[in-house]
Amino acid sequence: MCLFCDIVAGKIPSTKVFENDKVLAFKDINPQMPIHVLIVPKKHFDDILDMAASDEGKEALGDVLEAIPEVVKATGADEGFRVINNCKEYAGQTVMHVHFHILGGKKFTEHIV
Ligand code: AMP
Ligand code: ZN
Repeated sequence: MCLFCDIVAGKIPSTKVFENDKVLAFKDINPQMPIHVLIVPKKHFDDILDMAASDEGKEALGDVLEAIPEVVKATGADEGFRVINNCKEYAGQTVMHVHFHILGGKKFTEHIV
């Protein structure tokens, strides 16, 4: 069982921001910014390395990319946002279904990179 597969399947509720047949975007349950949305491919990949390992995964990454402007439009993050992917333990990945954080809604005060 995978938490985000269950969210995609509608077995666990989420606050949907955008959906098509390939991806789902929903609000993070513990927002770190006024806008904090997770974009996930509906097909399960463990992480971004898993996506990179197949043509299917590369296609799914393109589907996530295409969803970004839709999420920006839906949330009003058009003044700027960050896209974050945490990959594996050292980066703090806690859900092993690849996901991309969209963070925005106010000016970032810290620049990590
Ligand atoms: P990460 O640390 O990159 O793996 O991010 C996992 C994210 O999933 C965290 O920001 C959590 O707050 C979020 N999260 C966990 N469970 C849920 C849930 N049921 N609905 C929405 N977001 C969730
Ligand atoms: Zn999954």
